Amino acid sequence: MLRRVFGYDSFRGEQEAIVEHVIGGGDALVLMPTGGGKSLCYQIPSLVRPGVGVVISPLIALMQDQVDALRALGVRAGFLNSTQDHQQRREVEQAFLAGELDLLYLAPERLRLESTAELLGRGKVALFAIDEAHCVSQWGHDFRPDYLALSELHERWPDIPRIALTATATEATHAEIATRLNLTEARHFVASFDRPNIQYRIVPKNSPQKQLLELLRTEHAGDSGIVYCLSRASVEKTADFLVQNGIPALPYHAGLDSRTRAANQARFLREDGLVVVATIAFGMGIDKPDVRFVAHLDLPKSVEGYYQETGRAGRDGLPSTAWLAYGLQDVVQQRKMIDTSEGDAAHRRRLSTHLDAMLALCETVNCRRVQLLNYFGQSGEPCGNCDTCLAPPESWDGTVAAQKLLSTVYRLQHERRQKFGAGQIIDILLGKRTPKVTQHRHDELTVFGVGAELGEGEWRGVIRQLLAQGLLAVEGDYGTLVLTEASGEVLGRKREVRLRREVKRERAPREAKP
Ligand code: ADP
Ligand code: ZN
Repeated sequence: MLRRVFGYDSFRGEQEAIVEHVIGGGDALVLMPTGGGKSLCYQIPSLVRPGVGVVISPLIALMQDQVDALRALGVRAGFLNSTQDHQQRREVEQAFLAGELDLLYLAPERLRLESTAELLGRGKVALFAIDEAHCVSQWGHDFRPDYLALSELHERWPDIPRIALTATATEATHAEIATRLNLTEARHFVASFDRPNIQYRIVPKNSPQKQLLELLRTEHAGDSGIVYCLSRASVEKTADFLVQNGIPALPYHAGLDSRTRAANQARFLREDGLVVVATIAFGMGIDKPDVRFVAHLDLPKSVEGYYQETGRAGRDGLPSTAWLAYGLQDVVQQRKMIDTSEGDAAHRRRLSTHLDAMLALCETVNCRRVQLLNYFGQSGEPCGNCDTCLAPPESWDGTVAAQKLLSTVYRLQHERRQKFGAGQIIDILLGKRTPKVTQHRHDELTVFGVGAELGEGEWRGVIRQLLAQGLLAVEGDYGTLVLTEASGEVLGRKREVRLRREVKRERAPREAKP
């Protein structure tokens, strides 16, 4: 089947073991990074076992493409989702009942309908494949309520094998998938999450567009790549900026009409050397092997997101770059988004935990790859090919600096009943008599000018790292700084603060790549 239908010579990694296990009727839980080849793991058993393989996927927008690709190989595939009209659905249902399908893709909300369950009951199902299985996890980064209902598959069809697949799962999420989907008897197949050909680099953000341009010109001239930005506006601005500087770039975000989006995506897949500047709406299911770099101009909201997005680089196994520029403003902005987000306190706590893990990755003085692997419950050795391995950051004793900064915040908060953002605090520490400083008589504070040993950029670095370590917090619409419980330990000299020295040289030597 592998050769005849799909045209491949051999299985990759654990594909063969998974395929055999599922053909034999066993349940499976598969953790495999993006590009690892998850689809074959359920497609081949669907073709071998009698009946139709039912694939549950939340990526409705991709179903048409997936089905088209399978049909081109001669596989009889169809899908049912909300984008179809009544007539189209009827045709697929009839094909299913007549035994004229090998694979049927279903949106999870379809499966909740009693009519769908009845339909499946009247035909023959070969297996259930639950794609993007991490969506069942309430503690994950991509929870979809419709997935919870998938726990009933087991009760309703106890004899039909189920295979759940995901490209991102921490150990906790992994365990949660197994419990929620009733996969207690399933065999677990866990591939390594290491992507050795990707060089991870996280740099302090100064002037992001210029930094990006420098990266593209010096290391990725003529390469295909993806640049991620948080907002539609910054997508547009960055794409314009690149074009003005002679780099062929296209925007992609949900605010563009679907025609433009489809056209830009098609060009990216077809042409060499195009750069797509996009929100995270871009990339799901995109299978372009030679993406040479993924650049983030804004901080991703979670390590899972970062891993998935950077994972789109280098699927062909050749050296590729994952580059992220990150600064104080990112922390302020994301904390604000969490504070004002909809949902209950538990939801906000969840978002906050995800952000903290992402910040820890940014601020680590150890190997980025090891930190990433550890996050997903796997171990590794320092890779020698990430920015921290290539130019180990020095750390320094930032206790006194932290005390100066925190006591400035303390004095404003308690002596003046005032709260200010990073800019004003830094002006006070540096002893700058700006109009805003004199207006508030902040030059009369005892801390005025006590921080002249560091520059403004260094102070911003201190604040960013204190935020990342939970020794300081931001609040409200204006990003005002406030103390946390842990700040007290620093002020009370009960706790030392180690900080990472900002590395000036941000280019890693080329020859160090594998
Ligand atoms: P995932 O779903 O894990 O991201 P896919 O199933 O989309 O990965 O597979 C990624 C790419 O690898 C696809 O282009 C697929 O055709 C290719 N591929 C998968 N398995 C094999 C194999 N055994 N040999 C060669 N190519 C493969
Ligand atoms: Zn490393």
